[in-house]
Amino acid sequence: MDKNTRICIVGGGPAGLSAGMYLEQKGYENYTILERLDRVGGKCWSPHYNGRRYEMGAIMGVPSYYAVHDVEEFCGITHDGPKLNRNYKNGEGKVIEPFEPKKNILKIPRLLRMKKQLKKFGELLETKYKGYDVNGHRGVAEGRYDGFSQQNAKREPISGENPNLKDLALPFSEFCKLNGIELIQDIWIGPYTSFGYGYFDEIPAGYVVKYLDFQTTMNFVKVNLWTWKEGTQYIWEQLNAHLKNPARLGSRIDKVERRDGKVYVTVNGAEEEYDKIIVTAPLYIPNKRADGQIGMVDYFDTRDDERELFSKIDYERYDVLAVETKPEDHPEISYYVFDNMVPSRLGHLMVYYRRWKDSVDQVITTYALRKHKKSKEIPYEDCKKMVLDDLKTMKNPASNVVNEWSVYYFPHVFSEDYAAGWYDKVEAMQGKYDTYYAGEIMSFGDMDETAEYSRELVERFF
Ligand SMILES: Cc1cc2nc3c(=O)[nH]c(=O)nc-3n(C[C@H](O)[C@H](O)[C@H](O)COP(=O)(O)OP(=O)(O)OC[C@H]3O[C@@H](n4cnc5c(N)ncnc54)[C@H](O)[C@@H]3O)c2cc1C
Repeated sequence: MDKNTRICIVGGGPAGLSAGMYLEQKGYENYTILERLDRVGGKCWSPHYNGRRYEMGAIMGVPSYYAVHDVEEFCGITHDGPKLNRNYKNGEGKVIEPFEPKKNILKIPRLLRMKKQLKKFGELLETKYKGYDVNGHRGVAEGRYDGFSQQNAKREPISGENPNLKDLALPFSEFCKLNGIELIQDIWIGPYTSFGYGYFDEIPAGYVVKYLDFQTTMNFVKVNLWTWKEGTQYIWEQLNAHLKNPARLGSRIDKVERRDGKVYVTVNGAEEEYDKIIVTAPLYIPNKRADGQIGMVDYFDTRDDERELFSKIDYERYDVLAVETKPEDHPEISYYVFDNMVPSRLGHLMVYYRRWKDSVDQVITTYALRKHKKSKEIPYEDCKKMVLDDLKTMKNPASNVVNEWSVYYFPHVFSEDYAAGWYDKVEAMQGKYDTYYAGEIMSFGDMDETAEYSRELVERFF
């Protein structure tokens, strides 16, 4: 492609900003990033409280976040945040140690079986499911892998046939049953469901294992995690500050028309002309949202194939509260509440995060899911009340809510569409209307998978 190609990037979150960085590194300097809000970072949102930053969105990374590491290197920053630590409580607020055999004498046989299944799962991923860990979902439904290895920072291109990969379309709970590894869900559920990515009986295994590959999960288990003192938003603010063309904030896109090999974007009432457009913002939102967030299909001259495919996308209702507590009620550490990570406890507090160990004069953040494919969605206010009540049960009652967010979270498709090759159909459309699709839906809803997908998009098409 001509290095002077005029490229419009929709969205100034991790996917959009890293697309800018990788384009720039490849010699494309004629790119424009349009961000609708007055800040960059998207779901990496780190507001201030009492002179420090807390996290309303993304919190952590792991050492295999190679794309985030690329960004850190580009900007000369590092993961310098507070060390994460956590403990566990049951639904009644009692501290438990679910993985400690000495504290769970009756559960020892189950824990031993879990250990065995964990070993088996590690082996299966390397053998039966070889190729599972490439970024994105290209070829999976056809029993192929095609992408860049995530085994180390080099990210060599790899591809091959592996019919077993078709199993990744199954809901994760069925995938585990098929492989006789049901008990590993007790481990995977912590960094999966409580992080808002849905329940194992509804989410295709492909999403689960691509995000929580074996290496990443072991980093969670060993609490070998990265955080950033100034918050995850700082990574993207820094990247934006180092780009040749920083994002244009407050860009309201009224209309996008693709005709005669050009892309016409009407921004804040004025038409701009581009050659290509990369969309990292939501493609489709099935219902009206209070925050005004809409999908690409609502402001593009959407073609039939785009509308048909994108209408299959659903997303999670994941709510975050930032609360103050009285000093004596402040939790001493972050807590996971496993009892609340099941569909029957929809809307309840699953995890709460204390970021700053040295101060009780900071907020804690709480996390709850209120949608499950097979149940009725819980209204936002009801969920908020349940979470505040749960904090009382946990003996860490809130004295005040200082911030709240119900965010468009983890867009995904369900097993039927995954198995029917949704990803291969969308991948085949890349570039077709001078349009490229990136962001969370194309890989997974975390900072690194989205930035990595942008890297690969640039590698493959530009
Ligand atoms: C509570 C929470 C906890 C999380 N925890 C973690 C974690 O610990 N680790 C991790 O790696 N990830 C975590 N994530 C996920 C991570 O933040 C996201 O996956 C990542 O930010 C996705 O990047 P993105 O650029 O694809 O999308 P987004 O971050 O959503 O960015 C999209 C951008 O596009 C903009 N936009 C939308 N529509 C338009 C439009 N029409 N025109 C212009 N701009 C538009 C948005 O304003 C936004 O800035 C968490 C997210 C949340 C909400």
